[in-house]
Amino acid sequence: MFRAAILIRIRRSRASCRSVTLQSINMKKASIVTIGNEILAGKTVDTNAAHLAIELHNIGIPVVSTYTIADEIKAILRALNLAEADADVIIATGGLGPTDDDLTRQAFAEFLGVELRLQKDLLEDIRERFARRNLEMPENNKIQAYIPVGAKALKNIGTAPGIMAEHKGKLFVALPGVPMEMSRMFESILPELKEFAGSQAVVVRRLKCFGAGESTIAEMIGDSMQRGRNPLINCTASEGIITLHIIASAKEQNEALKMAEKDEKFLRDILRELVYGIGEQTLAEVVGEKLAQKNKTLTLAESCTGGWLGKLITDVPGSSKYFTRGWITYSNEAKIRELGIPADLIEKNGAVSEQVAAAMARCARRKAGTDFAIGITGIAGPTGGTEQKPVGLVYISIDSDDGCETKRCLFISKRPFVRLRAAQTALNMLRLKLNI
Ligand code: ATP
Repeated sequence: MFRAAILIRIRRSRASCRSVTLQSINMKKASIVTIGNEILAGKTVDTNAAHLAIELHNIGIPVVSTYTIADEIKAILRALNLAEADADVIIATGGLGPTDDDLTRQAFAEFLGVELRLQKDLLEDIRERFARRNLEMPENNKIQAYIPVGAKALKNIGTAPGIMAEHKGKLFVALPGVPMEMSRMFESILPELKEFAGSQAVVVRRLKCFGAGESTIAEMIGDSMQRGRNPLINCTASEGIITLHIIASAKEQNEALKMAEKDEKFLRDILRELVYGIGEQTLAEVVGEKLAQKNKTLTLAESCTGGWLGKLITDVPGSSKYFTRGWITYSNEAKIRELGIPADLIEKNGAVSEQVAAAMARCARRKAGTDFAIGITGIAGPTGGTEQKPVGLVYISIDSDDGCETKRCLFISKRPFVRLRAAQTALNMLRLKLNI
């Protein structure tokens, strides 16, 4: 069965843009089973599956299927059977709590064809956790110390231990539903997972891009996103940021590293200034780092972004080194009174104009005495647009000793996206000015 090429359809969503065929005959594959009625009801967003999919991919175990099911033994058994047919590593999350609707333990025991047995050391652990908080363990929690015979109990930071069992050459894992507990427990089993995945070393590099859409980027890099390629390159898009994932697998770590580095250089040569960073870096981080390095300071005068740019900048720890202050001048009156923009300039050109954006940046820089100032004015919508000045029109200016540069942008989208995109584009303009 594993000699066949297996097609993984990575769901076409804002977060992904490729379908990938795995042709490596030795590659282990994973399936994720998320258990919980509240996920099915749409009350809880299934972040566990997303987190596990990324982490498993990073260690060279791609996820080939995910199942979301109710807290019912029958449903869990059916999902485990389906998952077993797809994959070598089956990871379930949720339903390990102490209440009657937490049935993962029983379902795992039934699936493995064994009994649940009380593990005294686990019971002591659970009791101790309660005792540390001066509480007596409720009788209900005793059930959490029962583990299928032959399976390994995984210690938790909460009360619910996880379960790991090898069955017919496949690895079955049950993790808690609470995302933090789930991710910590997953981390603790990484050595076992890597060993199970075989001797393949996997290196993952991420290139963060801004300034072009995913289809443009895909076109620019052409064949290198081909299915079955090693390194595998795929791309995800989230909130205007495109991330290129380079996943290199080889026998030795060094070899995989070299392959990933080679592809990183190749992509950087093609995409040039579209690449702003690596890993999890944000635009605000790379801009902030450069400003701090150069000992330069920044101020802002925001209108349509209403402080969003200031938020992105101050999300970065240590931003007070380079960000001194900002103004949110939403009304014309505020632009005139707080920044000192001539009233007739606004009257003549309109508040959303190249002239006013430039004046906002110039006036803010003069008032704050900084090296750089950004001015943003635009129409976020949904109302307020005209034929000449439609919704989504934004002017962004950067003032510095080199003069004032203004960009006219048109973001055709809904209000939140127009505002976010305006803030990101301003950061990107400053990045390019700083030669990052
Ligand atoms: P507990 O000991 O808290 O009962 P559990 O393993 O039984 O742990 P669940 O009861 O299934 O976990 O889920 C606990 C909480 O964790 C849920 O209320 C929900 O907020 C969150 N959660 C569960 N599954 C997911 C998921 N797939 N993605 C994101 N959050 C989840």
